[in-house]
Amino acid sequence: MSIKNNHLTTPEYQENFTDIHPPFETQDAALIEANRCLFCYDPPCMKACPTSINVPKFIKQITTDNIKGSAHTILSSNIMGAGCSKVCPVEKLCEGSCVYNFMHETPISIAKLQRYSTEIAIKNNWQLFKRKPATGKRVAIIGAGPAGLSCAHGLSKEGVDVTIYEKEDKGGGLMTYGIAAYKVTPEFCEAEVNYITSIGGIEIKHNQELGKDISIEELQQKYDAVYLAFGVGLARQLEIPGENLTGVVDAIKFIYELRTNDFSSIKVGDKVAVVGMGMTAIDAATQAKRLGAKEVTLIYRRTQEEMPCTEHELNIAKLDGCAIIWLASPKEVLGKEGKIVQLVCDVMKLGEPDASGRRSPITSGETFTMDVDMLIKAAGQMPFENLVKSNQIENNKGKIKVEDASVTNLKGVFAGGDCVNGGKEVVDAVQAGKDGAAAILNFIFK
Ligand code: SF4
Repeated sequence: MSIKNNHLTTPEYQENFTDIHPPFETQDAALIEANRCLFCYDPPCMKACPTSINVPKFIKQITTDNIKGSAHTILSSNIMGAGCSKVCPVEKLCEGSCVYNFMHETPISIAKLQRYSTEIAIKNNWQLFKRKPATGKRVAIIGAGPAGLSCAHGLSKEGVDVTIYEKEDKGGGLMTYGIAAYKVTPEFCEAEVNYITSIGGIEIKHNQELGKDISIEELQQKYDAVYLAFGVGLARQLEIPGENLTGVVDAIKFIYELRTNDFSSIKVGDKVAVVGMGMTAIDAATQAKRLGAKEVTLIYRRTQEEMPCTEHELNIAKLDGCAIIWLASPKEVLGKEGKIVQLVCDVMKLGEPDASGRRSPITSGETFTMDVDMLIKAAGQMPFENLVKSNQIENNKGKIKVEDASVTNLKGVFAGGDCVNGGKEVVDAVQAGKDGAAAILNFIFK
C-alpha cells in the first residue's frame, strides 16, 4: 500500500473525469423534453429554486426555439444559471418538486434544459443585459465566487463600477476550486466568469487576500460600499491522535489540488477512508476512486437517514464502487515511520432525540480497525473566525451576522454567501449576491 500519483493512463483519466451529466445530443431531444412540461400554474419547481427562476417560462421559450429569451429568463434570475445547471442538487430542489413526481413519472429534466439554453448563450457570447450609464459609484467586493460575481453583476447592471479582490488566480470560487472535476471543467468555469464580467464595469484583481494584501478599512475609504463574499474554507479537524501523520489530508485541499493540477500528478492511496457524508465528502471519495484508488470507504457517524448529501450523490459514490460504513467515528490514526497505516473507529449508536428532534451519535463502546494508506477529512468547513473577529465584524462563531439579508455592523459593509451562512449550495450564494446588490444600491443611492 502506498500513496502515489500516476495510477492510471491518460485515456483512463480522461474517461473517469468526463462530464457526469452529458447534455442533450440533439436539438430535437431538448425539444421533446421541453414539450413534456405541463407549464403548471403556480409552479412548484420555481418555488423550490432559491433564485426563483421562472422554470415553465424558460422551458416554453425552448419549445418555440426562442433560446435567447430562454437564456435571458434563466440568467436574469440566476447569472450563474449555467454552472448551477451542472452542480445544483436538483433532486431536492426544482426537479424534486416537479409535479411529475406525484404522478410517479420521471420529472422534467430542468437542469439539462437550463444547461441547453445557457451553454448556447455563453458559447455565442450573447449580451443579454445592458449596463446603465456609469453613475460614478464604486463598490469593492471580496471574493470572486458565486456570491461575489452575482453581486458584481447586479451592481454593474445599474451603472456601478465594481472591483473584485480575489485571493486565487482564477475567479469562480467554490465552482472553480471546490467541486468535483467531472461536474464542471476549469474551461467551463473560466468561460462562465468571463461571460458574467463581459457586461463591463467589473474588474477582478487576483492574488489579493483580505488581511494580507488589503484591509476592510482601506476599502471603506476608497469605495462607496464593500461586499464581503469570501466564503468558508478551513477544514474542520478531527481532533484525534495521529491526525498529523503523512497521508492524512483534508478534502478541500485534495479537491483544490485536483482542480488546479494535472490528474496524473495527484497522489492518492490504494486504500482510502473518507470521513463525512456531505457533498464534499462524496466529491472527494468519488474522485479518489476515479484517480485510481483500489478501495474507498466513506465513514459517517450517523445513519443514512441523517446524511447531509442527497440520495443521488450517494448513488454516484456507490456506482463508483465506494463502500460506506454508517455509525462509525474515527478515534485514532495509527502510523508507521510517520505514515498512516490504520484507522481505528468507534462504533456509534444514535441516542435519544434532542429538543430539535435530532438524534446525536454516541459511542457504543466497541471499536474496529481498518488498514488504510490515506485518510481524507471531510467533516465540514469552518468560517474564517480570526479574520472576521480581527475586523470587529459581528459574528456567530465566525459566521458573519447580517440584518435584512446582507447588512453587517460596519458602516457601508455588506456580506453574503458562505461567509454568512456557513456553507450552503452555489445557488444560495447566487441569491445572496442578488440580495447584497439590492441592499448596496439602496445604501449608495439613498
Ligand atoms: Fe414543468 Fe414540472 Fe415545473 Fe410543472 S413542476 S412547470 S411540469 S417543470
